[in-house]
Amino acid sequence: MQKNKFLTLIILLGLILGALITNITYQQVKQHLSERITNDVRQLGEKLDAQLARYSKLPEVLANDPRLLSALMVNAPAVDQYQKTSLLLQEWANSLNADTIYLINRSGDTLAASNWQNEGSFIGQNYAYRPYFQDPMAGKLGQYFALGAHSDKRGYYFSAPIYQLQQIIGVLVIKVDLSLVEDIWQYDQIEYAIADQLGVIFYSSEDSWLYRSLVVLNDEQKQQVFSSRQYGQTKLEPLSDLPRLTEFNQQEISNITIPSINQSEAFLIANHNMEQAGWTIYGFSPINTAYQYVVQALFVFTAFYMLLCLAVMSWFQTFTTKKELAQLNDKLEILVIERTRNLMETNQQLRDTIEQYERSQAELKQTQSELVQAAKLAMLGELSASINHEINQPLAAMRTYAENTRKLLQKNRYEAVASNIDEIVNLNQMVSDIISRFKVFARKTTENNNRTVAADSIRSAVSLLRNKLIKHGVVLRLGELPSELLVRADAVQFEQVLVNLLHNAIQALGDSRSPQIGVQLEPLGDMVEIRIWDNGTGLDDDQKKRIFTPFFTTKNEGLGLGLTISRRIIDSFSGSLTIEDHNTGGAEFVITLPRCTEDA
Ligand code: ADP
Repeated sequence: MQKNKFLTLIILLGLILGALITNITYQQVKQHLSERITNDVRQLGEKLDAQLARYSKLPEVLANDPRLLSALMVNAPAVDQYQKTSLLLQEWANSLNADTIYLINRSGDTLAASNWQNEGSFIGQNYAYRPYFQDPMAGKLGQYFALGAHSDKRGYYFSAPIYQLQQIIGVLVIKVDLSLVEDIWQYDQIEYAIADQLGVIFYSSEDSWLYRSLVVLNDEQKQQVFSSRQYGQTKLEPLSDLPRLTEFNQQEISNITIPSINQSEAFLIANHNMEQAGWTIYGFSPINTAYQYVVQALFVFTAFYMLLCLAVMSWFQTFTTKKELAQLNDKLEILVIERTRNLMETNQQLRDTIEQYERSQAELKQTQSELVQAAKLAMLGELSASINHEINQPLAAMRTYAENTRKLLQKNRYEAVASNIDEIVNLNQMVSDIISRFKVFARKTTENNNRTVAADSIRSAVSLLRNKLIKHGVVLRLGELPSELLVRADAVQFEQVLVNLLHNAIQALGDSRSPQIGVQLEPLGDMVEIRIWDNGTGLDDDQKKRIFTPFFTTKNEGLGLGLTISRRIIDSFSGSLTIEDHNTGGAEFVITLPRCTEDA
């Protein structure tokens, strides 16, 4: 849309400028041509004037020559007198470069002529009808242009009266050939014409204009020309439609007929008035010449304008492209800023998430350690219950023995008292043994304390859970426990693992009819393998995959941490804890621990 408007504007502007240039060029060329032809005709006129001026005084001077008188004497002179005079005239004509010089008597008859020897000699011809004869006879100098009445040659006639005793007795005429105009006129592109006072052309570069009038002549004017036979038998056809010469002379451009091609053409016209001769010189330049210049100028302008338009359009295109590019850049920059901001926000979010994650990790660790602590506490509860249970019986027995002893003392049965006290001491020893078994849980883990007799740990764990085993009627299948097998592990933690596995096994047996738990210990290369199995419910594949992950439990009050902690403990001794299916359908846990020799 914008582009179309722009194009329309360019075309409109081009048309306006074109019209302006056409007008200016036309006016300029017209003015230039007009100046040129005005100049040319003026120059021609001046040159012609100068030429004619050379001859204008001559007849008057020559008419005073007394040698002419003898031929004009009234009484008929001798024939040779005329010949003598003709010779004289011939001499003059040659030296003055005149066409013909001739002598006419009062009657208009030519007595002597410089062309006396030529075929068309003027001698004997009567020129009484010619103005160049009539004017001198009236005492004036004559100047006249005409077509030679006999020679049919164009000529300009200068004449002067010849006096004798103040009487006009004849006329001397000098005819000058006007072919000199052609020598003077050198301008090819301009037509010229010389016309007389009536506007009849008697000299022209265009032959078909000769002896035709520039304007329409009336009958009287025509008669005037015919009577003097100035232009022979011409019909004096007009070359324009105008009736008056003054009007024609004021026209800058006129339509002039060209009879040779039988059509009229518009000409730019300039004229120069030759006052002395009474003629007007016309210069004609075809207006087509101006049109040609206009067409050329228009052509050059169109080419230039088109180039200019192309340059402007290309500049415009570059400008708009640059603008669009700048806009695009701006948009891009905004987009980049937005994206950067988004990215920064996302980064911030990511950082927040990481922080959050780290916090969660820390919280998780905290929770885990808290849970481990809880598991330990649970275990401790379990242990205290066991201790409680273990030592309650001997304590009750000790009290019974003590009460009996007091009674026996009252009865002075000292032997029985001594026996009771022995029993009490034994029971006391027993309690002490029980407590010492639990002491291992209270021992602090140290770096040095990492060599343990595996068999001792197993016995200790079994002993701890003895009551539970009995309560559930479990048959314990304890394999051979070689005491020389030492493992690289902390005794307390190792026992903790064993107690946990045995405890899980008891729970897995549930209401089984013939519940059994087996424990085996044997060396395996430089490792020691402990297997704890039961004939309980066992585990499916999915459960087997998940039991070591924290918080996996199938029990209502289970924590799901026992096996996780156990595996970590065994891992920390560079051993392994795995689960297998036992052939009884129950589960079988396998512990491997690095074996260490007694020396080490
Ligand atoms: P909890 O005893 O608190 O459930 P554990 O980590 O000790 O946690 O045990 C995880 C789970 O493994 C138990 O809930 C139980 O389902 C399964 N499990 C452990 N030992 C045995 C076993 N001997 N026989 C069958 N399932 C067992």
